[in-house]
Amino acid sequence: MTSPPSSLQQHFALTLAKFIIRVNELGWQVTFGEAYRPPETAALYAQQGRGIKESLHTVRLACDLNFFKNNMYITATKELETVGAIWEAQDSLATWGGRFGDGNHMSFGFGGHK
Ligand SMILES: [Zn+2]
Repeated sequence: MTSPPSSLQQHFALTLAKFIIRVNELGWQVTFGEAYRPPETAALYAQQGRGIKESLHTVRLACDLNFFKNNMYITATKELETVGAIWEAQDSLATWGGRFGDGNHMSFGFGGHK
């Protein structure tokens, strides 16, 4: 995948930081999951059916977050719709992975990928 400009990667990071603060104010806590994913790892994951080779993680435009509410780890995508909607309201490029079954995945659409 073509590399996005550093300014876009920086904008993604800052938008994610603001999102984490916003959801924290609403009673959610987060821990980091995977952010940057080397292309060779993305290729391996794709072979294992755990993602796509052209993952936005490989261009620093995606981050997986683990969500907690009242110290309960929330894993069901359906229960993350609230935070997904908040993420997508943060920026016109923001896409929530819950739309394709991965509620922990926050990304910026780029190069035809989400
Ligand atoms: Zn992800």
